[in-house]
Amino acid sequence: MVNRVAALVGKGKIEMTVGPVPEPKADEVLIKVRHCGVCGSDVHNFLEGRTGKRVISYPFVLGHEFAGDVVALGADVTNVQVGDRVCVEPGAACGHCEYCRIGRYNLCEHMRFLSAYPNVGSMQDYVVFPARNCFKLPDNLDTIDGAMIEPLAVGLHAANRGNVKWGDTVLIIGSGCIGIMTVLACKAKNATNIIAVDVFDNRLAKAKELGATATINSRTEDVAARVAELTGGRLADVVFECAGRPETFNMACDAVRPGGAIVTEGNISEPLQMNHVLINMKEIDIKCMFRYVNVYPVALRLISSGEINIKGLQPKIFPFDKTPEAFDCAINDGKSVLKCVLEM
Ligand SMILES: [Zn+2]
Ligand SMILES: [Zn+2]
Repeated sequence: MVNRVAALVGKGKIEMTVGPVPEPKADEVLIKVRHCGVCGSDVHNFLEGRTGKRVISYPFVLGHEFAGDVVALGADVTNVQVGDRVCVEPGAACGHCEYCRIGRYNLCEHMRFLSAYPNVGSMQDYVVFPARNCFKLPDNLDTIDGAMIEPLAVGLHAANRGNVKWGDTVLIIGSGCIGIMTVLACKAKNATNIIAVDVFDNRLAKAKELGATATINSRTEDVAARVAELTGGRLADVVFECAGRPETFNMACDAVRPGGAIVTEGNISEPLQMNHVLINMKEIDIKCMFRYVNVYPVALRLISSGEINIKGLQPKIFPFDKTPEAFDCAINDGKSVLKCVLEM
């Protein structure tokens, strides 16, 4: 067996190479990767040469949004079998620390997350990972759908953090992949009004196609004023900040109703100047979030039942040996392509 690897060999440089096929430990499975998405964080790490605070030493492998076939089992594995098609939750938590024990394993102090340096990612033919992180794909899902579960999990976790419920007006600022996943999640939660914001009309059209009830182009319209108009002055119950910019955070504060919530899905890396008096006077709940927790099985049921139309995102598929082109597309065609997916 040959393991083809998309090796990150320097800042902004990927080379197609070949490496050894890894061996599963007792609690692990060997997976033949079939599809792997290019995440916004992959693009960031590709360009910046770091994952979070950690500087990458090359070569390294990116990728964590993947699905494939189980091809070998460790001695203790019982939950999946050889031949199963699975999607894989890419963060292996320790299972023993305080956060794991209270069910908030996304905060695990010993998390091993694929593609977070030094844990090599899934942009290669073969990956070993704990079997407990593998979820069997229902028969009506393919491995492209399986690779889309990870970004959907972010949207589902955001909707959980915002406690979205029927009757709600939600405002989603930023209609890229994660914003659209949040539209899908809020629709599945039966939010009544789903308002999507972006600066690109084609993204807004996609948001509308997949469940937004209204859209606002923030380049030409005053977002808070439009939300007031659309809600009879009431404003939004929950605002999702998916753009990761100081100005969109402040937009969220203006557009949320008193007593409402803001969920910060985007990472705002620039210094943030906020109107704290306004936030206090409105008694806004600011809900932060890190990745996702306990949503993979739910995501599979929602897609399999048709409650969430994941195919509507229409990812652009690249053959694996065109990985550099896929990154190029993710960087330069972000307004027209929501998700690039590699096919192994
Ligand atoms: Zn991702
Ligand atoms: Zn833990």
